[in-house]
Amino acid sequence: MPTEYHDVVRHSDLGNLSWAPLLYRNPLNILTGNAGQGSVTVAGEAYHPMAPDMGQGGCAALEDAVVLARALSSAATPAEGIAAYVAERRRRAAWIVAGAYLSGWVQQGGTNIHDVRGYMIKLFRDRIFYRFVFPRLADTMWYNCGDLITHCATRKAKTAALCMAKPPPKSWAVSSIDQACNNACGVLAK
Ligand SMILES: Cc1cc2nc3c(=O)[nH]c(=O)nc-3n(C[C@H](O)[C@H](O)[C@H](O)COP(=O)(O)OP(=O)(O)OC[C@H]3O[C@@H](n4cnc5c(N)ncnc54)[C@H](O)[C@@H]3O)c2cc1C
Repeated sequence: MPTEYHDVVRHSDLGNLSWAPLLYRNPLNILTGNAGQGSVTVAGEAYHPMAPDMGQGGCAALEDAVVLARALSSAATPAEGIAAYVAERRRRAAWIVAGAYLSGWVQQGGTNIHDVRGYMIKLFRDRIFYRFVFPRLADTMWYNCGDLITHCATRKAKTAALCMAKPPPKSWAVSSIDQACNNACGVLAK
């Protein structure tokens, strides 16, 4: 083992070490299960624990955060926002969990098997998986979960339309709506 690795272990505080199994949630369960109930839901690892083989666990948690914040901010009630969040996230989450699992299974699955099954897994990995499947999985990592503050434009337009229909009090000019909206967006963006 390279000496750098020994150095890392030597300089580690063993009291900080923890040992935890890798967990994953069955993608079918994510697709069909109920991840939201009333105003309660789950996000990140609690929603879609996955194998580390695509390095997407943290990214998916951040996607959840953006979608959840956006859904809550534009819904009439928290329950509606959460239902919209779950509806938007479930397919994406199930797909990444399945992709990460497949990726890990193919990369590691054949290494300890020395019979025909091991040979077939290696054949699949080298001839099919890396040529045809993995590029598609890798493509899904380039994902745009949308703008956190999109709703502001909509809300601003709606509020402005309301103001046009019924003239607002003098102190409540459109510019102050702009300001309030920008402030809200600033807080959300932080
Ligand atoms: C070695 C390693 C490498 C990784 N590399 C990548 C990568 O390259 N790219 C990537 O996208 N992802 C990566 N990940 C995955 C990523 O770190 C996780 O998917 C991500 O941190 C999940 O975020 P989360 O907020 O859902 O959960 P967590 O980060 O686990 O946060 C949960 C928090 O809740 C706290 N908590 C737990 N129980 C309670 C309780 N009862 N009361 C109060 N607090 C509680 C915990 O202490 C923790 O702080 C990696 C993970 C590991 C371990």
